[in-house]
Amino acid sequence: MSRRFVARRSPIHGNGVFATAPIKKGEEIVEYKGTLMTHQDADVMYGDGGETGHTFLFTLNDEYLIDANRKGNTARWINHSCDPNCQALVLEAEGDDRRKDRVFIEAIRNIKPGEELTYDYGIILDVPHTARLKKVWKCLCGSPKCIGTMLKPKHGR
Ligand SMILES: [Zn+2]
Repeated sequence: MSRRFVARRSPIHGNGVFATAPIKKGEEIVEYKGTLMTHQDADVMYGDGGETGHTFLFTLNDEYLIDANRKGNTARWINHSCDPNCQALVLEAEGDDRRKDRVFIEAIRNIKPGEELTYDYGIILDVPHTARLKKVWKCLCGSPKCIGTMLKPKHGR
């Protein structure tokens, strides 16, 4: 299967990923790849995430995350949007080995060539959402539905 997307500069942020062919709703586009690490190791290496707003970490499950800074693929350039055309699906492997879980980016509506691929990062930080943090995680997706931040409200906390 030929690739149906390309990475280039994005009006949203830095690099983005754009469709180069029509993609149908429900189609799997790309796997989110990188180096598997535990949350503990990630905290040691990168801090709690509140400082830098780095977004090349994908939370896989309670134990592991995928670090796309190391051995990541094009999927790491896909930007966040408040009104996305894709979603990130965690495919849980059979059995108890959570290291075998994988993440795929899937279209949630039909996508035309030239459209930027986006999904909702759904970021929840375990720290108060200060003005500085909101700036770090500011959303520039440009959608009419934009809530101005990538951070999710902390319901029931
Ligand atoms: Zn937005």
